[in-house]
Amino acid sequence: MKVLVLGAGQLARMMALASKPLNIEVRAYDVGSDQVVDPLSPSVTFGDLDAGIAFADSITAEFEHISHEVLDRCEDSGKLFPSSQSIKTGGDRRLEKSLLEQANVKNATHHVVATKAEFDNALKHLKLPLILKSALAGYDGKGQWRLKDISQADAIWKEVDTFIKEDTSAQQQAVVIEQMVPFDREVSMVGVRDKNGETKSYPLTENHHTNGVLSVSLATGAHANLQAQASEAFDKIANALDYVGVLAIEFFQVGESLLVNEIAPRVHNSGHWTQQGADTCQFENHMRAVSQLPLGSTALVRPTAMINVLGTDSVPNSILSIPSVTMHWYGKSKRAGRKMGHINVSGSDRVELLQRLQQVVSLLPENDFPEVNDYVSQLK
Ligand code: AMP
Repeated sequence: MKVLVLGAGQLARMMALASKPLNIEVRAYDVGSDQVVDPLSPSVTFGDLDAGIAFADSITAEFEHISHEVLDRCEDSGKLFPSSQSIKTGGDRRLEKSLLEQANVKNATHHVVATKAEFDNALKHLKLPLILKSALAGYDGKGQWRLKDISQADAIWKEVDTFIKEDTSAQQQAVVIEQMVPFDREVSMVGVRDKNGETKSYPLTENHHTNGVLSVSLATGAHANLQAQASEAFDKIANALDYVGVLAIEFFQVGESLLVNEIAPRVHNSGHWTQQGADTCQFENHMRAVSQLPLGSTALVRPTAMINVLGTDSVPNSILSIPSVTMHWYGKSKRAGRKMGHINVSGSDRVELLQRLQQVVSLLPENDFPEVNDYVSQLK
């Protein structure tokens, strides 16, 4: 089997690493250089997108902000999984919201707004505080405004209006205005669906964000009631899209209920723990799904946490002397805030996991891992 991944970052790299033992050959299309590359050695190139399409038995994607022209060319080959519609939905909050409504999945009350009249109408119908999010190309908290008091409305609209008018994308920018959800916690879940419609969900992950970017996720297999809600939401969304591959869903937990925040039509940062904590990791299951192989078990084999390494290219080697700690570097050059790698930590139960996590965190420099110590210290 041969798979072309649209995007040549760390997710394509980890898909390639998981594919080797299955004898699946992976190449990655770098949208920046318009070249197909080896995801493990990006300086090795294999020609343009047409060459990549000709090479592949299946084509998939590692991110959702891919030009529609590229997606349509791949779809025309009949090899793209998940479909271009699934990928486009993940890259446009308007499509995402209408999918959630159509699939009858709970999410925050919202309006889609592109004009001042629509903005004023939304303010009439929604309760403050509100969060405004760009419909296109928004992720990790970028392209967002928070409206806490009505006195901020004019100033925020001015910024949003400029933002919409300056946007040059083919799909006309807009914003989704959502009611702020007073959540207790943010959790997420990855699941996988194959071409026959079989689905499997991984255990829920508790997430902590630092400056809007995921810093720690924790999967311990707790929360049976929430797990059932998350798996049901996954099935509804994946079935509505006739989805093939791994899809991630981010939720707000309010009491004992889950509301969907957003979906990502791909393997996801909050699923990296599956490399050491699940029977089959998310990368392997994604490649199995798009290659028409049977899906692997998504069962938790041991509680596992992931710590993101952001903006630094070194961590103390001493962390590797702690049992069940694994290091995953992405081979990227250092830039402030950039996702450079992650650390997975496992334990035989939650208590042992938290002990090891605390040990690891005590060895990490606070400057490079802000808030991580505080977050881990309060876990019970
Ligand atoms: P997003 O880009 O949609 O994931 O939003 C980034 C972060 O903003 C989320 O992880 C939440 O912490 C926060 N956020 C987004 N939407 C809401 C909402 N409706 N209510 C409360 N917090 C939100």
